[in-house]
Amino acid sequence: MKQANDDLSFQSDNLQRFIFDNAEIRGEWVHLHDAWQQVTSRREYPVAIQNVLGQMMAAAGLLAATVKIKGRLVLQLKSTGPVSLMMVECTSDNTLRAFAQWDEQQSLNDEANLTEITGEGTLAITIEVEGSKQPYQGIVSLGADSIAQLLETYFNQSEQLGTRVWLAANTVSAAGLLIQQLPSADHHSESEEEHWSRISQLSATVTESELLDLGAGTLLHRLFHEEECRLLSATSLEFSCNCSRERVANTISLLGEDDALQLLEEQGSVEVACEFCNEHYYFDQADVALIFNQTSGCPIFSSDTIH
Ligand SMILES: [Zn+2]
Repeated sequence: MKQANDDLSFQSDNLQRFIFDNAEIRGEWVHLHDAWQQVTSRREYPVAIQNVLGQMMAAAGLLAATVKIKGRLVLQLKSTGPVSLMMVECTSDNTLRAFAQWDEQQSLNDEANLTEITGEGTLAITIEVEGSKQPYQGIVSLGADSIAQLLETYFNQSEQLGTRVWLAANTVSAAGLLIQQLPSADHHSESEEEHWSRISQLSATVTESELLDLGAGTLLHRLFHEEECRLLSATSLEFSCNCSRERVANTISLLGEDDALQLLEEQGSVEVACEFCNEHYYFDQADVALIFNQTSGCPIFSSDTIH
């Protein structure tokens, strides 16, 4: 019986770690359904952009799990277009959010790959540790056909640990698989090289539909049934955006009073939409006056958000 795609028979929105008992190699599997639907329901993306954004979201989940920090990991792709910006954030509270900006004048083939939707640019991986002022940042130039290839380049440059990544996304789900040599492994020993080569080849047989449609147990059994692959802990992931009326008010105060008053005059209110969740915040004359301290006593940080 064929499983309907949007009726998953396994635990989605989940990150599953695994390890090989017969090799110094670890792995992660991630599958997003509800979290991904939260992103695609908030803004209508061209198919090609949506697919790459989904792959980036799965990648952020995989990468966040490789760094044990309190803070957030951000993947940011900037390019000369048609996509100008893609951003995905994964926090140590296991929340994800994502958005893309693109030139709506350009029509894109649904099957367009990363090179075709981006042009020149970079993918930056930023890790912000809570309480630390200096974020870590790694940057790779665009020029590969997929986010997975860019990440492999990044890992080659920064970690010096063999790392392979596979990513897939469609309108329903976003998913990914990562395998990585353990830092403790003697990478130059003949047996470890052989293990890495063999497990890489087995992993590379994974198809997009297997990534998108199978649960961790089924997929890992299918790929590695002749290996000693053991499931470790799993983590639930969910969509969440921490934007708020108060944060938007801060942004307006940075904009400056003259610009804010001009917007009020032109539009009747200052409207700000959150890029990540597309929530719209409205500030009327009294709200704006309060932001710039002209009057007082009127609470502006109430929950009068208009949907
Ligand atoms: Zn938001």
